[in-house]
Amino acid sequence: MADLVLASRNRKKLLELEALLAPLGWRLRLVSEFSDVEPDETAPTFVENALIKARHAASVSGLPAIADDSGLEVAVLGGAPGVHSARYAGVHGDDAANNAKLLAALAGVNDEQRGARFISVLALLRHADDPVPLIAFGAWSGRILHAPRGDKGFGYDPLFLDPESGRSAAEMTAEAKNAVSHRARAFAALLAQLRPS
Ligand code: IMP
Repeated sequence: MADLVLASRNRKKLLELEALLAPLGWRLRLVSEFSDVEPDETAPTFVENALIKARHAASVSGLPAIADDSGLEVAVLGGAPGVHSARYAGVHGDDAANNAKLLAALAGVNDEQRGARFISVLALLRHADDPVPLIAFGAWSGRILHAPRGDKGFGYDPLFLDPESGRSAAEMTAEAKNAVSHRARAFAALLAQLRPS
């Protein structure tokens, strides 16, 4: 069984990624086994940030690595918070502050104007200098609620309405979210690239 390093420290995102990767037969290692250093994710695109994280993980481990860079795009806000999703309100990973800032930014905006999508970009590198990384993209379209609903998931999940199920992402079970999420769709696209043609 081949080792694969997962370049994520967000524990809840990690659980989702682990569940999605489980069927692939790779032995998953966490980047924290190899290094405490967190690379700066300051590039302007999800693709570049995913590559930065995957390259760092491959470099410190000497193993193949996979990273996800993800975020929320709200059309009426010009795509914000976008690549800044994790630190929208200033402090990296402060979900409550990020959600409060998003609700304030959308105050007075009606339902029709509250369209949004989660984005996930996955980057898979065979080694740190891999000149041909695999890149896969997934999106999940929905709408931003007027108040939080549900207590599962993480990040913007309580504010994100999945139009298909009528539930917020935080009201969905992990299995239900993993069946439709941006990360699940990016994984499906990655798997299609990995399958021999
Ligand atoms: P990253 O760890 O740099 O990719 O940051 C991703 C950020 O986007 C997270 O901190 C969340 O704020 C947001 N995000 C990404 N995926 C999800 C999701 O599935 N649910 C809720 N928020 C998400």
